Amino acid sequence: MKDGNFLKEKNARSLWHPMAHPADSLANPPTIVTDAAGVTITDVDGHTVVDGVGGLWNVNLGFSCQPVKDAISGQLDRLPYYSIFRGTTNDAVIELAEELRDFFAPDGLTRAFYTSGGSDSVETALRLARQYHKIRGEGGRTKYLSLKKGYHGTHFGGASVNGNANFRTAYEPLLPGCFHIPAPYTYRNPFDETDPEKLAQLCLAALEDEIAFQGAGTIAALIMEPVLGAGGVIPPHASFMPGVREICSRHGILLIADEVITAFGRTGSWTGSRHWGVQPDFACTAKAITNGYFPFGAVMIAEHVAETFEKDETGRAAIGHGYTYSGHPVGAAAALACLAETKRLKVNENAAARGRELHDGLLALQGKYEVIGDVRGGHGLMCAMELVSDRNTKAPIDKKAIGAVQEETYRAGAMVRVSGPNIILSPPLVLTSEDVQTILSALDAGFAALA
Ligand code: PMP
Repeated sequence: MKDGNFLKEKNARSLWHPMAHPADSLANPPTIVTDAAGVTITDVDGHTVVDGVGGLWNVNLGFSCQPVKDAISGQLDRLPYYSIFRGTTNDAVIELAEELRDFFAPDGLTRAFYTSGGSDSVETALRLARQYHKIRGEGGRTKYLSLKKGYHGTHFGGASVNGNANFRTAYEPLLPGCFHIPAPYTYRNPFDETDPEKLAQLCLAALEDEIAFQGAGTIAALIMEPVLGAGGVIPPHASFMPGVREICSRHGILLIADEVITAFGRTGSWTGSRHWGVQPDFACTAKAITNGYFPFGAVMIAEHVAETFEKDETGRAAIGHGYTYSGHPVGAAAALACLAETKRLKVNENAAARGRELHDGLLALQGKYEVIGDVRGGHGLMCAMELVSDRNTKAPIDKKAIGAVQEETYRAGAMVRVSGPNIILSPPLVLTSEDVQTILSALDAGFAALA
C-alpha cells in the first residue's frame, strides 16, 4: 500500500487543483483515489465507497467497462494519433460520426464537430453560431444569452455565459455582449414564485424582455443546460425549454443545448433536449461520450445549420476553428464502444428507475433532517439537496457543516459532491437499487452526525 500521508504532502507541495484554493491542500487534503471497479472507488487508505458522483457526472457505465478499455488499447496499438485537420481523417472518427448522427437524429442533429471536452464544445458552438449568422448576412448578431446559475465550462466564452459569480469574478473582464436571464429555480428566485409552471412563464417573459431590450437582431444564440447541473441540479418545469425554443425561433436566435451532462441517458431520456421535446440548433457533448476514460467531446449540429454552412457561396463558411485533439482517434474509438454499451444496456431506463428511488430516498431524508432545505431531482440520476441553517429564512448552511456531512457520508460508504450549499449526486447510470440504498444510508449517517 502507498504511504497516504507522504502522497498528501507531495500533493500539497506541487499540485494545484481545479476549483480549489491552492493553500487548502494541506489543511484539507483531497482523498487520494487509487483504484476503482464497478460503481465503487477505493482510496489510498484502502477504504471503498460507492461513487455517488460518477467521476464528475461522466462515468455513466462505471469503472469496469471492458469494451471501452479494449477499444482504447486496440486503437492505441493501431493508430494512436493523427489529426483530422483538412487533408486527413481516420476510420474511427468517420464511424463515430455516423453513430452519433443516428443517436441524435430524433434531436434533428446530423453533423458532428469533435472537441477534447465540454469547455471546448461550448466554445465551438458559440463560435459556429456567430459564423452561421455571418454566412447568412446577419453579422450584427453577435451577443449571447444564457441562464443565471448555468455552467458552461471555463474558457473565456463559456465563462462569459456562465451564470455563477464564483467562476467569473476573478477573471473579469469577460466577453462583452453576454446577458443572463433568471433561471427557473423554484427554491430561490427574484419573483418569490414557488409554483414551477408560473415561474417558468415569468422567466420566459424575462427572456422576451431582454431580447426586446437588446434588439433581437443583435443576438446570435442562447445557451442553456436542459437541466442545470453544476449550478445545483435545477430541473425546469416541462414548459420551460419548449418555451425558450419557441422564443428563440421567433427571433432568429440559435438555441445551443449544453448537454455535456445530460446527453447519453443521464436524465432518463437519451438527451436532455429530447427529455423536454425540444430540437436545439447545437448540442454540446463531452463527459459520458467516452465514459470519462478519455478526454473527448462533440458538438452536434442541426441539419438546417449544417446546410447553411455547406451550401455557402460567400466564402464565409470555412471553419477557422478546431483543436489538435479534435477527432482524436483513441477518443473516437472509446466513444464508439461507449455508445454501443450505452445503448445495449439501455442505461437511460436504469437512470430513470434508480433516479426515482434516489429522489424518493432524499425526500425521506428531508423529512428527517431540518438542514435539508430543498431536494431536487426526479429526472434520472441527477439530484441535489440544498442545505440551510434555517428552513424559514433559507439561510445557507456554513461551509464547515456541509463539509462535515460530506466527510461522514464518505466514512459511511458513499462519495458525494459538495457545490456551494448543495450536495450533488450524479452516480454511474449502471447503479443498482442496492447501491442507491448504500448512498442513502451513508447520507443518513452523514446527517445524523451533524444533528
Ligand atoms: N458544460 C456543462 C453543462 C458542464 O457541466 C461542464 C463540466 N462540468 C462543462 C460544460 C465543461 O466541461 P469540461 O469540464 O469537460 O471542459
